[in-house]
Amino acid sequence: MAPSSYQAPMRGDKTKPDTQSQTSTSNLSAGQTTVAKLLEGKGNAIYSVRPSDTIHEAVNQLKEQRIGALAVTDDDGTLLGILSERDIVRRMADTPGETLKQQVDALMTREVVTCTPEDYVIDILKRMTEGRFRHIPVMKDNRLCGMITIGDVVNHRLRELEYEALQMKQMIVG
Ligand code: AMP
Repeated sequence: MAPSSYQAPMRGDKTKPDTQSQTSTSNLSAGQTTVAKLLEGKGNAIYSVRPSDTIHEAVNQLKEQRIGALAVTDDDGTLLGILSERDIVRRMADTPGETLKQQVDALMTREVVTCTPEDYVIDILKRMTEGRFRHIPVMKDNRLCGMITIGDVVNHRLRELEYEALQMKQMIVG
């Protein structure tokens, strides 16, 4: 027999639902990470060259730092362009054996698409995909403050998806 204090559950007793529906907030939260948040994890290191540096100097830096692009800045750190390994490969095809001695200035892209720390990572991914480039300098108050690569964005998104999958599993298992 049940103790006298026992109250059989009644319909309507439940205050918490067993399932949780997806809301526009929960669906959107994954895409709301900012560039600033991404930089917190990766740091603000910026590798740069000057326009007058040679491609030989640039490739040495690309090799040493194990990166795919360099910001091109003047002595004050003002962003003047971007030089990626792709620019160098193209020039090597055009001027075989003559590329390393050329200046960064002659190969760099001058019209640089940038972002700010407040931008959403999901928008940056779109900008990179549409522009067909894999690097994007981060600017704060007109100063260069970091560099985001498509690898950073994809890694971050994968971690978010793993976390979301884990949350869903926990919701199902209880
Ligand atoms: P990437 O895919 O980043 O190695 O670069 C492919 C091409 O786009 C190269 O010619 C780069 O100089 C250029 N590029 C890279 N990043 C940017 C950017 N943020 N804005 C404009 N051009 C870029």
